[in-house]
Amino acid sequence: MPPTNICPRCGDAYEDGVAFCAKDGTRLVSAGQTGDLIGTVVADRYRITSRIGEGGMGQVYLGEHVRMKRKSAITQRTVS
Ligand SMILES: [Zn+2]
Repeated sequence: MPPTNICPRCGDAYEDGVAFCAKDGTRLVSAGQTGDLIGTVVADRYRITSRIGEGGMGQVYLGEHVRMKRKSAITQRTVS
């Protein structure tokens, strides 16, 4: 079983049953509810920390550069 709860602030993953992040106290969100990309690294650069929203182009996520710590919006096009 992969971790199921993700901190939307720092992106840390926790086991099911943990409600708050141990680092910053942010309420965790369920990875299943917010999208499969959260907690993963895309384009070898950006770690997905949360989902911002959903638009016509697809799901919009907030990613953080793994080295620069720079935040960026990442859109995942919905395949239909
Ligand atoms: Zn956190």
